[in-house]
Amino acid sequence: MLVMEKAPAKINLSLDVLNKREDGYHDVEMVMTTIDLADRLEFRELSADKIQLSLESRYVPSDERNLAYKAAALFKETYKINKGVHIRIDKSIPVSAGLAGGSADAAAVLRGLNRLWQMDISLTELADLGAQLGADIAFCVYSKTAIAKGYGELIEFLPAPPACWVVIARPDIGVSSYTVFDQINLPELEHPDTKEVLEALNEGNFSKLCNHLGNALEPITFSMHPEVAKLKEAMRLAGAEGVMMSGSGPTVFGLMKHHRKALRIYNSMRGFCKDVQLIRMLG
Ligand code: ATP
Repeated sequence: MLVMEKAPAKINLSLDVLNKREDGYHDVEMVMTTIDLADRLEFRELSADKIQLSLESRYVPSDERNLAYKAAALFKETYKINKGVHIRIDKSIPVSAGLAGGSADAAAVLRGLNRLWQMDISLTELADLGAQLGADIAFCVYSKTAIAKGYGELIEFLPAPPACWVVIARPDIGVSSYTVFDQINLPELEHPDTKEVLEALNEGNFSKLCNHLGNALEPITFSMHPEVAKLKEAMRLAGAEGVMMSGSGPTVFGLMKHHRKALRIYNSMRGFCKDVQLIRMLG
């Protein structure tokens, strides 16, 4: 039997850090949504009891260090499954980009194995399982629009953003989320107005959403990589209706209501960096 799963990327409409916990994690408040840029995963049962992973990427290991492999191992161990699986990952989501590519793959593995082995486990249970491996995995199990609290594992669903287009642009660098979180100085942090973002989603108000996008990590990433700040400014000057860095960066995204304008901004951003894509919002 062959099972296929899409693993869509996320962007942060807002990202706030509330405090640092005793266990070293930060308490966060992140409004996240899903965009139409996805890795594709294929699952095939093996006769031997093992996990095999194949992917072609210079940046991602295809062994037990891969989050997808870890998710498969956790799934097998939790549900005591003595069967094997070959997982092929076709990566389209850029790595270490702030788009949760690794978490999306891990979440897709949980959904894919659930189908392959006809387990009928609820998404809620899969999300709880995924949260043991990484903060964004619970959100990625659902791949909708939600606010994530706690260290990212507590998910409350929200209405999808109004239909719009997303241009993502990324300088040719990877940013480690760990390094950015490590540099947080809580008293200095500028907090986004999460409440306004929630209101904008509830009202379906696109311009309000664009005006209140916010990310407390931006100044930290900008100070380490000034080219990310320049990219954001370029996107703003090009006319994007809302512009923000996603996650800990370095991807910057712009939101546009209409395709024609989004295409114009996509074309002008291509003069700034190689990795620019025009994507439909899913939510
Ligand atoms: P986050 O914001 O959740 O840290 P990100 O989008 O910034 O996510 P990822 O693309 O998930 O970053 O990659 C982060 C790290 O995870 C990289 O060092 C990468 O090698 C590792 N990794 C492990 N498994 C995967 C995977 N399946 N896909 C991408 N990266 C993976």
